[in-house]
Amino acid sequence: PKQYPLSTRIFAMTMSSAHLVPPLKDKSLFKENVAFVNGKWVKAKSGKIFEVYDPASMKLIGTVPEMETVDVNEAIDHAAAAFKDFRKTLPRERARMLRKWYDLMMENKEDLATLITWENGKPTADALGEVNYAAAFLEWFSEEAPRLYGDTIPTAVAGNRVVTIKQPVGVCALITPWNFPAAMVTRKLGPALAAGCTVVAKTPGETPFTALALGELAQRAGIPPGVVNFVTALDHTPAIGQLLCEHPTVKKLSFTGSTNVGKLLMKQSSSTLKKLSFELGGNAPLIVFDDADLETAVTGAITSKFRTSGQTCVCANRLYVQSGIYDKFAERFAEKVKGFKVGSGYDQGITHGPLIHGRAVSKVEQHIRDATSKGAQVLVGGQRLPDLGENFHQPTVLSGVTADMAIAGEETFGPLAGLFKFDTEEEVIKAANNADVGLAGYFFTSDIQRAWRVAEALEVGMVGINTGLISDVASPFGGVKLSGFGREGSKYGIDEYVAIKTMTFGGV
Ligand code: NAD
Repeated sequence: PKQYPLSTRIFAMTMSSAHLVPPLKDKSLFKENVAFVNGKWVKAKSGKIFEVYDPASMKLIGTVPEMETVDVNEAIDHAAAAFKDFRKTLPRERARMLRKWYDLMMENKEDLATLITWENGKPTADALGEVNYAAAFLEWFSEEAPRLYGDTIPTAVAGNRVVTIKQPVGVCALITPWNFPAAMVTRKLGPALAAGCTVVAKTPGETPFTALALGELAQRAGIPPGVVNFVTALDHTPAIGQLLCEHPTVKKLSFTGSTNVGKLLMKQSSSTLKKLSFELGGNAPLIVFDDADLETAVTGAITSKFRTSGQTCVCANRLYVQSGIYDKFAERFAEKVKGFKVGSGYDQGITHGPLIHGRAVSKVEQHIRDATSKGAQVLVGGQRLPDLGENFHQPTVLSGVTADMAIAGEETFGPLAGLFKFDTEEEVIKAANNADVGLAGYFFTSDIQRAWRVAEALEVGMVGINTGLISDVASPFGGVKLSGFGREGSKYGIDEYVAIKTMTFGGV
């Protein structure tokens, strides 16, 4: 692809008349050809770079260093050196740094949203929502840092006194996906820094620029060199992943991504017995009972299914609708989906942007083909949108979906909603739990006893009851089964980055 000079790319975005990238107010937030190590903007030692494309126009956004293990080794060394002092900073000092970083994110929220839409494709309103959500983790953990209390424990041994303190685990490796280029990494950076850890974060290959802009803001916030390092790579990702897992200096790995990569990283971490937290794939059930409020259920299902064009790990993937409300729900749901406007994320009134790449579109197509060949009907959508670009697909609703179809067994990670019909509560709980993953689940009912029963019975880490929106900085986020372990956000998030030390005083 043709390489445009930065000024042309940012200020005269005439790639396609319907896709004008707004100029950044602060050009220095766009970091090209550099990664962020030890407070410096550096290139890969090999000089290699890789290209990042706008998923809406498939035009080149820019290039970043293709780092290799030699580069990442250095980043780990810097993080280890920085840890010596950073671990001793007062919690209130770390809180002030995080708070400043939060303020800078909010001051630059339009530019950050522009970068997110550019490299991820989500509409600007969603990108702004992500910036708020992402920044909230820095603010929240700035407040948690000074409250990292230990315990005073009544001992079982005469003459002893026992107290515990929480200490930072050390250098942490963070690996995050492209679907929330800002929020996935701040959800880890906030608690890591609050605890006094230093980090090496491997940015997603598809969306490195947002993370690099966060690096620039970290520097402006006065976060010391080496505390936060962002390394970039595409082809060398597996080797870097292996290094981060096997390096004895790295004491913790926090990974958000697919279950398969999670399994590999866990295996690779076994030689160093690292502390791990994994936020992996989901295949969320969403259940609408006959006694649900129809409008609440439709709105909740739309929110949960189609946010970021279905590319979130907590997106509803299997929509179970009880037979008494099925037809009314299907009609109203399909009507709402028909009202979506798909296009470039920068255009006014657009509700849904492109998918991240061609593979994602192919998966949606495969799931539709498989389901319709086995008897499902298309209520709305069903086609690619080649006139908009190669990564666009119509938001689609299928009726008559059954357990033998591919969509039942794996997450589509795209704008495809499959409606299953069911008769009894017992039957639907069994179907909903018939999954090897368990991240989020949702259901809609007006029966309070049923609400408790079903919420307790679903094998997931998070349940939405009469709501499709469960992500909140204050609520623990994480899964069970093959969706991983560990919790992010909330008062628990910081626990992933500390070790409890027990001090026993004898002879008292
Ligand atoms: P992915 O696992 O392919 O990639 C995620 C990250 O891991 C990327 O940064 C990628 O570069 C890196 N990676 C890939 N292979 C690696 C390796 N061998 N060693 C080290 N790093 C490696 O996932 P994806 O397809 O990009 O993202 C979508 C998946 O992430 C979905 O399954 C989704 O459900 C999941 N997800 C989970 C959450 C959550 O919080 N549970 C949030 C967002 C996405």
